[in-house]
Amino acid sequence: MPLLPYFLQQVLEDRFRPIRRVDLATSRKVLRQIAPTWSGGRRRPLRAINRIIVHQTGIEFGVNDKQVKRAGSIAEAHRRRFLKVKYHYVVTTAGEALQIHPLERHTYHAGKRANRWTVGVAFEGRFPRFERERADRHTKLTSFMLDVYSSAFASILEDIHLILRTAEPGMAEGLPVSTHRQISKNRKADPGELLMQRVVIPAIPRTPAALDLDWVVGSGSKAPKEWRPGWGA
Ligand SMILES: [Zn+2]
Repeated sequence: MPLLPYFLQQVLEDRFRPIRRVDLATSRKVLRQIAPTWSGGRRRPLRAINRIIVHQTGIEFGVNDKQVKRAGSIAEAHRRRFLKVKYHYVVTTAGEALQIHPLERHTYHAGKRANRWTVGVAFEGRFPRFERERADRHTKLTSFMLDVYSSAFASILEDIHLILRTAEPGMAEGLPVSTHRQISKNRKADPGELLMQRVVIPAIPRTPAALDLDWVVGSGSKAPKEWRPGWGA
C-alpha cells in the first residue's frame, strides 16, 4: 500500500490483525531452548543421528489453575508443561519453535527401534489424518498459522543442521525427514495429511533436509499418497 502514509498502514494493520498472529520474522528467530542444560537421561553421540521424525502431539497442552498458581504465571506453567514433553522440538499453537531437549539426549518419542538414532519434532495440536475427515474435535489453525508452523519447522531443520554440522561436517546434508506412521501401526495418523501438505512439505525445499516417505521400520507403513508432494495440486 505505497499510497498510504506509513503510520496509517500501521493503524490499519493493527486494526485487522488476527488475535493469534505471530510475526513470521520473529518466529524464524524464536527457536528458544527451554531446557538447555543436561539433566540426565541416556546420552548418544551427535553422529549417531541419522533421521528426523515428525509428529503431531495429538493434544493441545493446556494448564490448569493449580499448575498456574504453583508456577506463578500462565507462561511459566506452560514452560514447565513443555519440559515434560519427550520430543526434541515442539512447534506450539502460539507459533513458537521450542527446543526441549539437546540432540545428544536419547528421548522416547518413536519407539525403541528409532529413538536412538532420531530427532523428534512435534506440532502441537490434534490434526486429522485426512482433511476430508470430520474435524470437529481437531485443532483449527488459520491459513496464516499453518504458514507460521511451516516457517517454524524450517527453522528447526536449519537448527538441527547447524548443530550436526559443527559435530561432523557434511553429516547433516540431506538428513532424511520421515513420519511417526512409518514406525508404528498405532500412529497411522501421525502427523496427518494437513500437516504434511501445508507445513512439512513446503518447508523442506528451504532447508538442507530431504523428505523420505518410503522408509519403513517394524509395524510402520509408508506415507499414503495424500501425504506426498504434489498430491491434489
Ligand atoms: Zn508421534
